[in-house]
Amino acid sequence: MTGPGKAIGVLGGGQLGRMFAQAAQGLGYRVHVYEQSGPSPAGAVADRETVAAFDDLASLEAFARSVDVVTYEFENIPAGPLEAIAPLVELHPAPSILGICQDRWREKAWLRANGFPHAGYVEALDGDIAPAVEQLGLPCVVKTADFGYDGKGQMRISTLDELARAAAIFRGRRCVVEQWVDFEKEISVICARTQAGESRAFPTAENLHSSHILDVSIVPARVPPGVEARAQDLAVRIAERLGVVGLVAVEMFLTPGGKLLVNELAPRPHNSGHWTLDACETSQFEQHVRAVCGLPLGRCTRKSPVVMVNILGDVWMRPGGQVREPDWGVILSEPRARLHLYGKPEARPGRKMGHFTVQGGDLEETLALALELKSRLAGAISG
Ligand code: AMP
Repeated sequence: MTGPGKAIGVLGGGQLGRMFAQAAQGLGYRVHVYEQSGPSPAGAVADRETVAAFDDLASLEAFARSVDVVTYEFENIPAGPLEAIAPLVELHPAPSILGICQDRWREKAWLRANGFPHAGYVEALDGDIAPAVEQLGLPCVVKTADFGYDGKGQMRISTLDELARAAAIFRGRRCVVEQWVDFEKEISVICARTQAGESRAFPTAENLHSSHILDVSIVPARVPPGVEARAQDLAVRIAERLGVVGLVAVEMFLTPGGKLLVNELAPRPHNSGHWTLDACETSQFEQHVRAVCGLPLGRCTRKSPVVMVNILGDVWMRPGGQVREPDWGVILSEPRARLHLYGKPEARPGRKMGHFTVQGGDLEETLALALELKSRLAGAISG
């Protein structure tokens, strides 16, 4: 066990690292953030921040030697740095799990090999997607195996013209071509697991996306009876099969026929779990601290129906290219709402700047209030 008073290292300095650091400090830990381009949102609240590249082995080693356990807050960490620090310090979740989750190809293969339900897919080497599309039929979606391709990471294909365009765009890239799922809902479950093998799943969130970015999470998910328990069971089995120590977020599609298909895994706190900060007995961030430090897990009981709304940099953008601070009074004057901002100095379209939650009362009415605040925030400017 890594008890309170010890130091936790976090690779990555975004908002997930920031909220993780705040939870860890709440339990008496010291936090050391390692970030490539600082100062970062997590570094701003951490006890210490190292700003250095992931291939700077001397800085990585010094970082690893300064802490008692290391975790990470985002997936795009190359294998090299993790291998470099693994012999020096306890590292959770294991690099092999990150290796599975950071590559769609390996992730799908792992789901398939372990019998977890997922959309049909075919691998396409060097962007040679036509044979895969022929096998799966249209519509389908092509995704690069690794992340971050200038926003061109995935493309839906429903016509032969689109296939030709996609073949040109993805040429030379390792891809996964996936059957298009006409899902009823997108839901997610975050599950924590300790080294001792104890697992606990948070309640299921129903997620609404806009332009591929999470927009709104609704908890409890509005799904038919039995689906929530099946989704939680699936997430627990995935956590156990992975042998994860820490959190794993499992994103799923619910099909019109009531099937659950796993879409993505993330071995870290997840945007769709931010509601737990305000409306759950234990937050996902505290649970991650507990799991990676070998403490007993907290209870995952939801205290109230809750809706979480992401605040993107778009809210700062005004007609004519002006950038203006939103009027936070819209959220702060509503007693049932709670505002969380990540301290990012510069707003950009699509950048996650914060979120707010609304809770208390009946779910549909809570959702209506959250959506009203969202649209008022988008329309309102300060001063
Ligand atoms: P991903 O990056 O895989 O999480 O995909 C982002 C979003 O694209 C998902 O949240 C879905 O809304 C949509 N999407 C991804 N894959 C599929 C699919 N096979 N069928 C339908 N929608 C999908």
